Amino acid sequence: MADAFAEFVNAAKQEPAAHPLDQPVATWTEREVLDDEQVEAGVAILRTRGCYWSIREGCAMCGYFNDTVPGGVSTEALQAQWAQVLPHLAEKRYAKIYTSGSFLDPTEVPLDFAAQAMAEMHAAGVEKVLVESLPEFVHARHMDYGAAPALEVAIGLESATPLVLDKCVNKRLKWDGFTRACVNARTAGASVKAYVLLKPPFLNEAQAIDDAVTSIERAAPHVDKVSLNPVNVQRNTVVERLFRRGEWSAPWLWSVVEVLRRTRECGVRVYSDPTGGGTQRGAHNCSKCDQALLDGLTAHRLGGPLPAVACDCRGRWKALLAQGGVRRDGAESRGYRRGFRGGRRF
Ligand code: SF4
Ligand SMILES: [Zn+2]
Repeated sequence: MADAFAEFVNAAKQEPAAHPLDQPVATWTEREVLDDEQVEAGVAILRTRGCYWSIREGCAMCGYFNDTVPGGVSTEALQAQWAQVLPHLAEKRYAKIYTSGSFLDPTEVPLDFAAQAMAEMHAAGVEKVLVESLPEFVHARHMDYGAAPALEVAIGLESATPLVLDKCVNKRLKWDGFTRACVNARTAGASVKAYVLLKPPFLNEAQAIDDAVTSIERAAPHVDKVSLNPVNVQRNTVVERLFRRGEWSAPWLWSVVEVLRRTRECGVRVYSDPTGGGTQRGAHNCSKCDQALLDGLTAHRLGGPLPAVACDCRGRWKALLAQGGVRRDGAESRGYRRGFRGGRRF
């Protein structure tokens, strides 16, 4: 399995796109919660070499490598990107600085550049900055920036179930490595956010819900918040191949709400902002109720209650959960969510 994953994912990287190295992948703003207060967060994705695991094999759902530069990006090019990101963070108290890999991996983001970026954000008045990292790079020596905003380290746990991590996600992460990284981050004064997946390949809808709930409950004592990430179809991934072959369907939005409902008492904030929500490539329901649920999830993410939406497709979702044991994998007949009415929507 792992060989097939590696072969497929690496084949997709044979012709790297001609990315402009002096420009970030993207910048945008989004509403966020900082110390129980709603703020406008400044977000940027820096173009880097990307995730080392993606270069070796990569996770089944991850298309981040589409935005990366094989061989890496020089510090000068990173500084040119940063010169465009910094003005975007003016007046922002909260920043999210993504790469398509690990900000704390010094072979991906050189420490001198990271320290410069942190110092400049600090000087610009940014109070908190979120970065992502694989657990193996979460060490005090990789976060020793001097003057810097408070740090929040987001770690992709994906699942706390070893079999799911290994066979469904294709990620070589050990539970001990995850908890050690949480301790390291907190010892260095950072807070920790965990990403947990909803419905990686080869799980049916009910199994996916159970696995996400179990993973969140297990992670909660070690982290400060959890983002539930419904798997979506990214370009050139194993998930995209399964999706095109009709062997995997994106999770229902009802399932997202169900996981959030079942983890309400886990002790930390759990929320979801589904990428591609409401489309066939992201978490969706029947299409009639999608927008109401997505709006409800946004309100919940910003501190509101769980969405209270009614729709007749909920009965079909419940039937699917009940039939989990006798259905194959995580795929559904096209049109099932709409009661087999109406056209296809991509
Ligand atoms: S999900 Fe994370 S660890 Fe997996 S390939 Fe993508 S960036 Fe790397
Ligand atoms: Zn519906």
